[in-house]
Amino acid sequence: MLDPILNLAEKFFVKFLEFAPIFKMVASAFISMMTVHEGAFSSMNKALFLDRDGVVNVDTHYVGRIEDFEFIPGIFDSLRAAQEQGYILIVVTNQAGIARGFYTEEDFLRLTEWMKDAFLKENILIRQVYYCPFHVDGVVEEFKGESPMRKPNPGMLLQAKQEHDIDCAQSIMIGDKESDIEAGKRAGVGCTVLVTQDKSLGTSADKVIASIAELPDCLGWIKG
Ligand SMILES: [Mg+2]
Repeated sequence: MLDPILNLAEKFFVKFLEFAPIFKMVASAFISMMTVHEGAFSSMNKALFLDRDGVVNVDTHYVGRIEDFEFIPGIFDSLRAAQEQGYILIVVTNQAGIARGFYTEEDFLRLTEWMKDAFLKENILIRQVYYCPFHVDGVVEEFKGESPMRKPNPGMLLQAKQEHDIDCAQSIMIGDKESDIEAGKRAGVGCTVLVTQDKSLGTSADKVIASIAELPDCLGWIKG
């Protein structure tokens, strides 16, 4: 009863052996093609690094609670546009308010989850929110002191680069303070954008815009 099946299997196996060298050749050609074009297949991310206060939300000083959080007009459309152009969205925010005891780390984390959910409802994925709770003048002992993560130091961006396989040269840092711009430059970010109403402000940023709402135009400028 099994004979026909075994016969068929044997025939198949013999045929397979005949064609094996061809399979091997095709497979090795494919592998070498993949290797030659490794760069083309590698999937490094380009990121839009966002400062939070003054860029994502209105900066009313030390915003640590949901009830104090107000999105800046245009933020959703702008981030959706960046996302559609292939940027992953990473928030990098100094949170000295934690060190200063104005709100707790738990308050901040609760607000962050709420903020990420609000973005998700708008089909915007914030990949990660990096924050630095330290400050030299902190009153909360645990967070008193200097930190390589606190902008203008580039620590948060460099950590994001590692954790999300980011090509900084292809990335953008957007912030409303010169310390954001400096952090971006020190991390090797290719384009830095300062958000300010004050056009007379001296800055080393590559681009100055009045609001995050202008970001979509800016993306065209960066691409061009
Ligand atoms: Mg800011």
